[in-house]
Amino acid sequence: MSSNEAISVLRSAGEARAWRATLPADAPVAFIPTMGFLHDGHLSLMAEGRRRVGPKGQVITSIFVNPTQFGPNEDFDRYPRDEAGDLAKAAAAGVDLAFCPSAPSELFPAHSRTWIEVEGLGDALCGRSRPGHFRGVCTVVAKLWGLLRPSIGLFGEKDYQQLAILRRMHADLNLCGEIIGMPIVREPDGLAMSSRNSNLDPSSREAARAIPRFLAEVRARYAAGERAAAGLLADAPARLAPGRIDYVSLVDAADLRPIDVIERPALCALAVYFGGVRLIDNALL
Ligand code: AMP
Repeated sequence: MSSNEAISVLRSAGEARAWRATLPADAPVAFIPTMGFLHDGHLSLMAEGRRRVGPKGQVITSIFVNPTQFGPNEDFDRYPRDEAGDLAKAAAAGVDLAFCPSAPSELFPAHSRTWIEVEGLGDALCGRSRPGHFRGVCTVVAKLWGLLRPSIGLFGEKDYQQLAILRRMHADLNLCGEIIGMPIVREPDGLAMSSRNSNLDPSSREAARAIPRFLAEVRARYAAGERAAAGLLADAPARLAPGRIDYVSLVDAADLRPIDVIERPALCALAVYFGGVRLIDNALL
């Protein structure tokens, strides 16, 4: 373990396991997995983790841009990184230590052949346009969970499909502890906070305000009694212009299957490119 000014840092899987072994099995440990370039959305999970485990509990975050959840033509190389800044922010949010693997091979040794796939829930939405993405997410979270054995893990509803899939994995694999979902934290103009927002040029950043505007309109139409996907999502390309739509969907909030008419809790979810940056967001209805 090395000690940055602000926070202790674990660099290897062995160090992570050894750290956990110093704590009792039932120790309160809050775990917040991230890909770094931390913003207030991440920090809200960390603060809630601290609140839940109390001053004597441990709060650990991981900072790892997981190559196995990026496709070959995706933005792995362009993903923003700032480890020193992240460690300072995490410390200020009440985090005790960070697991920042020194290399991807700490979690994915060259000989790895084991992958975790949750059937069904990954077919729609992001799973359709990012084949293999959720397999990479599930595998890394399961590995981290096994090393750190948290009593709680905190995840954001911004990645609603990811949260649903991880809840399923957590239950199916009888993992320890509990998964906690947390609300989306937004910029003052409504754009969901995301590390990828830093890759938006100023005009794309301005144009991306179309996303929260679109979701607010969907909510307003729903509040006015509209229940049909066709009505709620009508003219989406014009309403999200100049964004390039990957998907805009209305799905059942529990099983994520597409629906035509809302009869149970539903999710309006979207992924839209602005200036080449893929942004996701959602609204529960
Ligand atoms: P990431 O670093 O993008 O992998 O995100 C790490 C965790 O932070 C995930 O559980 C995300 O859902 C969560 N997260 C990311 N952005 C937000 C946000 N704007 N509000 C709340 N949680 C978020």
